[in-house]
Amino acid sequence: MKKRKSKVMPNNVLGYNRTSTSYRGKIHDIHLRLRRPGSHELIDYESIAATMCHELAHCVRGPHDAQFYKVNILFLLICHLSCHNLMLQSFV
Ligand SMILES: [Zn+2]
Repeated sequence: MKKRKSKVMPNNVLGYNRTSTSYRGKIHDIHLRLRRPGSHELIDYESIAATMCHELAHCVRGPHDAQFYKVNILFLLICHLSCHNLMLQSFV
């Protein structure tokens, strides 16, 4: 397996989606920052979840346009409802 070059995230970025292609089609690698650079303090769950939704939306639509934000809102809604259901079932 070919090792990929690692990408350094600027300190103000919480995540990114790296898209590549293979013989199977497009591959999306989502990278999320879990701790603040310097202090190593954990980043709050809501920020990480929102970043994950943002990066997942990039799997559907690349540019930050109206279509992208519609998909992003849909993922945020699904995430919010899933969390709410888990709390109702006392899994969280
Ligand atoms: Zn983006």
